[in-house]
Amino acid sequence: MMGRSYAQSRNYDYGRTAHNRVSRLSPWIRTRLLTESDVVAAALARHALSSAEKFVQEVCWRTYWKGWLQHRPSVWTAYLEQRDQDLDRLTADPSGAAAYEAAITGQTGIAVFDAWMAELLETGYLHNHARMWASSIWIYTLGLPWALGADHFLRHLIDGDAASNTLGWRWVAGLHTQGKTYAARASNIETYAGDRFSEECGPGWRSGLDRLATGITPVAGQANPPAGALPEVSSCPDGPVGLLLTEEDLHPMSLVPTGTQVTAIAGLCLAGARSPGGAGQPARTFAEGAVQSGLDTSASYWSAPATSLSAQPDPVAQLCTWARDHHLTDLVTAEPPIGWVRPHLEMLRIRLASQGGRLHYLRRDWDARFWPHARKGFFALKKQIPDVLATLGLGR
Ligand SMILES: Cc1cc2nc3c(=O)[nH]c(=O)nc-3n(C[C@H](O)[C@H](O)[C@H](O)COP(=O)(O)OP(=O)(O)OC[C@H]3O[C@@H](n4cnc5c(N)ncnc54)[C@H](O)[C@@H]3O)c2cc1C
Repeated sequence: MMGRSYAQSRNYDYGRTAHNRVSRLSPWIRTRLLTESDVVAAALARHALSSAEKFVQEVCWRTYWKGWLQHRPSVWTAYLEQRDQDLDRLTADPSGAAAYEAAITGQTGIAVFDAWMAELLETGYLHNHARMWASSIWIYTLGLPWALGADHFLRHLIDGDAASNTLGWRWVAGLHTQGKTYAARASNIETYAGDRFSEECGPGWRSGLDRLATGITPVAGQANPPAGALPEVSSCPDGPVGLLLTEEDLHPMSLVPTGTQVTAIAGLCLAGARSPGGAGQPARTFAEGAVQSGLDTSASYWSAPATSLSAQPDPVAQLCTWARDHHLTDLVTAEPPIGWVRPHLEMLRIRLASQGGRLHYLRRDWDARFWPHARKGFFALKKQIPDVLATLGLGR
């Protein structure tokens, strides 16, 4: 499914029980229970790179968005500010609040949009094309702020990711590629999702499609800032270390150098910090289960005691106590990408330093090799895919 058939049929949304033309691996890749390297290796074990090219490129889109945001943390903070302002405005704007409520509960009268919103809430997943159509309808037809749509997706997607989601929404809104917007068109929805909806919703499935906006223009918002340097990371220290796992990266076995003496492991799930509204049930359940799974696997790999820490009331204080209780001076963790987990770890770094401890961020080879090519457009990174895969021992 990662070869030519993926390229041919990946754009079809066949419905919530039939998303079998795409991998549906994103929640596992996003938490790195499966790494990008793992899935690309699996694709290349069955197909030549030329046949698996489209699948590999899609995985690399994720890498591109992560790297792009890593070079421009201010795009994430500007999104957070915009989201909070837009949420505040709703309290003073009853008709805007009603339109927002109708959108998130799937009661707009645009049958396909309403079905996607129900699917998102119930399953935590939407097909990529559905994400593009739904975000376009949200912005241009319903006239709702893009940052509120991004917040709603982030709360509910089980693969909710700061980079892919924020930059996906900015791309649709015409903020990522200057002047280039994404318009959802009825004929395109009919081609790629018509079978799904005629079966799911009956003859009325087209209702509201005649309302889709045409002649759209990019929304106003922050232009892309220039790319800065990538954040500093460290190498793994010699001697005993404590290992910290979060939902950002749960495969330490392929990150921490062989022979490292891991003496204690802590797992922390911060799913609720995605949004002031917290995370939806499917997203929260998946993230908590993922962290527990990463913790269990690591504990048996290193034969080290594992502690599951709670995000409430103060995760950083709990981590400091855990480090003290286990007599840990050096903690290691996967480099936290820009997003909602990173500020907590930055705070931990400062508090640990005040008690004589250190937190080391380890960067994966995959990121170290690809991210320098994520400063501009995707094309610059795409060109490098065969060479970078070869340096990683994949694809040739
Ligand atoms: C508005 C919007 C919001 C999005 N929000 C997220 C998000 O929060 N988290 C997230 O992981 N993806 C997000 N995406 C990207 C994409 O929709 C999902 O990664 C994809 O639908 C996941 O399904 P899959 O695993 O079946 O993908 P497949 O088609 O099987 O692709 C394989 C893998 O490649 C990566 N991938 C595929 N398409 C994209 C893409 N367009 N951008 C980035 N990575 C991609 C994913 O890791 C995916 O698992 C968003 C896209 C849009 C347009």
